[in-house]
Amino acid sequence: MSRVVIIGGGASGMTAAITAAERHDVTLLERQSRVGRKLLSTGNGRCNLTHLGAGESSYHGAPAEFIRPALEAFGAEVARDWFRSLGLLTVAEPDGRVYPYSDQAGSVLDVLRYALRRENIGIRTACPATGLIRREDGFRVETESGAIDAERVIVACGGAAGGKLGGVTDGYRLLESLGHRTTKLYPALVQLKTGTGYPKALKGVKAQAALTLLRDGEPLARTRGEVLFTEYGVSGPAVFDLSRWAVTAGEGTVLALDLLPDLTEGALWDLLTARRRMSPDLPGEELLAGILQSRLGRMVYKYAGGKAGTPMAELPDGLLRSAAAACRRFELPVTGDLGLMNAQVTAGGVDTKDFDPRTLGSRICPGLYACGEVLDVDGDCGGYNLQWAWASGRLAGRLL
Ligand SMILES: Cc1cc2nc3c(=O)[nH]c(=O)nc-3n(C[C@H](O)[C@H](O)[C@H](O)COP(=O)(O)OP(=O)(O)OC[C@H]3O[C@@H](n4cnc5c(N)ncnc54)[C@H](O)[C@@H]3O)c2cc1C
Repeated sequence: MSRVVIIGGGASGMTAAITAAERHDVTLLERQSRVGRKLLSTGNGRCNLTHLGAGESSYHGAPAEFIRPALEAFGAEVARDWFRSLGLLTVAEPDGRVYPYSDQAGSVLDVLRYALRRENIGIRTACPATGLIRREDGFRVETESGAIDAERVIVACGGAAGGKLGGVTDGYRLLESLGHRTTKLYPALVQLKTGTGYPKALKGVKAQAALTLLRDGEPLARTRGEVLFTEYGVSGPAVFDLSRWAVTAGEGTVLALDLLPDLTEGALWDLLTARRRMSPDLPGEELLAGILQSRLGRMVYKYAGGKAGTPMAELPDGLLRSAAAACRRFELPVTGDLGLMNAQVTAGGVDTKDFDPRTLGSRICPGLYACGEVLDVDGDCGGYNLQWAWASGRLAGRLL
């Protein structure tokens, strides 16, 4: 039995604490007034806790060799079994995303909190670690309410993303104080600002689309999924997926939306000409009614150069062609992003070269471990980031 201090009571820190307590006395420090606050907001309050397809190719930052051991030991199905052993039922959706059966993020936090209720786990909330000092026989963890000595320390402070929910840079600073390096930090899974007024006018509208991020006409990344139009630009899972490329690509990027990716050009042409033939008196802005969401359809008609009020019968073939082309390529120039404060995850972090992937122990400072988002590992949108938090927390908590 040794004394272990875990700094950070988020997803990875709670997992590390539950694991470490199987063999050690644990003190879990959390700077906020309660553990797991961010968890409650994940997955829009539903907590997308893992993804059945989670594998090393879903992650960025650290090389695959670094990510592999943690995921091999604690993959998505093992994570589901572990949560079941804690009393949580989960359900996998057809796309592989896993949620609590209750559909409430609070259920995930509840079972973790119950598992933390052990005699050999002491939880100190509202207790930020302010310093970490190496001593001959271990570490001294400084807090605002006194120092705690520990033989081993796990840093699980998370990343800088999601500032409103407690994302801070403390973990980088604590690890840097013991010789570790931090790579450049930038937002990933973040909302994008766009340069035109179209998204603002479409605020609240969702669309299924195929997305291509372009710079100087060259595709940088592609994906497919849901886009949400907002006051500032675009959000939603598909936008999050492309955001890491948009953030790093610099100026001059354009997001091209194919709003009808499953419809052939011919089929779309037939639909538009049939509408003109069958409803000659309807105003032109109804051209795409029944094909796209109604507000989106009117906006695409306008984007294609259509004038409000022109009777359908008077729309020339050229305008129908422009409208069809606009459905296939609705372009939004990207002008920025909503930054780390609003991002779901931090790209960059503590350099993983200085950690052993089989243990998550520091190569620079024996007895020191790190897990979760503080490390330079970020996953795609879809449950991959929490999967990394559980898997890495489980591995670090074994204190090998
Ligand atoms: C809005 C939102 C929605 C998300 N939805 C999903 C989702 O559905 N699926 C998914 O996979 N991922 C999601 N993520 C990402 C996921 O939540 C994180 O990647 C994950 O929580 C990281 O776990 P962590 O333990 O490393 O960090 P966190 O969960 O951030 O925990 C770190 C903890 O350390 C504490 N701390 C920091 N500094 C100190 C200090 N000095 N002393 C003591 N304590 C400290 C913090 O207060 C925090 O509680 C979402 C993120 C956000 C912001």
